Amino acid sequence: MKKIRVLAIMLCIALLLPTLTACKKVRSEKYFEYFDTVSVIQSYARDSKKEFEANCKAVSDLLSDYHRLFDIYFEYSGINNLKTVNMNAGKEPVKVDERLIDFLIYARKMYTLTNGQMNIAFGAVTRLWHDARESALLNPESAKVPSGLELEKASYHTNINKIIIDKEASTVFISDPDMSIDVGALGKGYATERAAELLISRGVSSYVLNIGGNIRAIGEKPSGDGWVTGITNPDKSSDEPFITKVIIKDLSLVTSGDYERFYTVGGIRYHHIIDPDTCKPARHFSSVSVFNANSALSDALSTALFCMSYEEGLGLIKSLGNTDAIWVFPDGMVKMTDGIVISE
Ligand code: ADP
Ligand code: MG
Repeated sequence: MKKIRVLAIMLCIALLLPTLTACKKVRSEKYFEYFDTVSVIQSYARDSKKEFEANCKAVSDLLSDYHRLFDIYFEYSGINNLKTVNMNAGKEPVKVDERLIDFLIYARKMYTLTNGQMNIAFGAVTRLWHDARESALLNPESAKVPSGLELEKASYHTNINKIIIDKEASTVFISDPDMSIDVGALGKGYATERAAELLISRGVSSYVLNIGGNIRAIGEKPSGDGWVTGITNPDKSSDEPFITKVIIKDLSLVTSGDYERFYTVGGIRYHHIIDPDTCKPARHFSSVSVFNANSALSDALSTALFCMSYEEGLGLIKSLGNTDAIWVFPDGMVKMTDGIVISE
């Protein structure tokens, strides 16, 4: 009888061991095919491999859908996306998935909130910089900046009110034939937030999403601690990889910086975040990071704050509540709002 009990206990331990070991493990999955960047899903939730895989599949399907809807360079069979909408500018309304309609309505709200500094109707201008950057990277000797005249002409075609949305009919029409939509400033953060929403609806907590640097923490670690994450030092010549390290729980963190996508002409760095007031790369900061529970809002704000003076950005952050920011100035000076939790 005793022997049987010992055997039973040993069997139980043997069965439990893999589960206990699995508990300690952080599960992680990576994708390379969405938004031209790396997407990472991490679970600290002690869920089973099967549960984790099902959650990853759901997130991956969602990211794939948004990736295709937001694409301005390629079309996909069976769907109308932003490339289709842009190609039909000045021609006719395009019937699109209701998720794209909802996104465009949100983007318009963000335009108003940011006083026009984050403008998805800015495609005519961002395209000039994008093309100049691409050809400079292929052929650095002939690198040049778009001319003032080209930029000025393009700037006349950036009126967001010319994106006509019919929610009932689920159509979008760009009424200016020379205008185009570019959602680079908002798309990733918006898709990240939809992914977080989906995971939460599936009962998930203690997950971290990192979609090309747009970080979204869902819940906290099982220990009750938050996650420590570094704010990249824009000065790549420095030995310090981070400006500071922060702790996040149930929060998103999005950074816009001048150090990732740029090209150089005559020793001057031309990066990819364009100030709507000048139609040139914004020069106020080297990076701006924004913290808010909603990753879509953080993404819109990080681009917009990058294009505003510190005072204007601070005023906007304070008016919103539950939102924080870190500004890194070109000379290395750092300013931040009070709600940021620094890791010692
Ligand atoms: P990242 O591309 O690193 O995520 P952002 O969220 O700041 O950084 O988005 C920058 C992208 O948004 C650019 O590559 C361009 O496509 C677009 N963009 C640049 N400036 C603006 C702007 N003022 N308003 C809206 N979109 C912009
Ligand atoms: Mg952004």
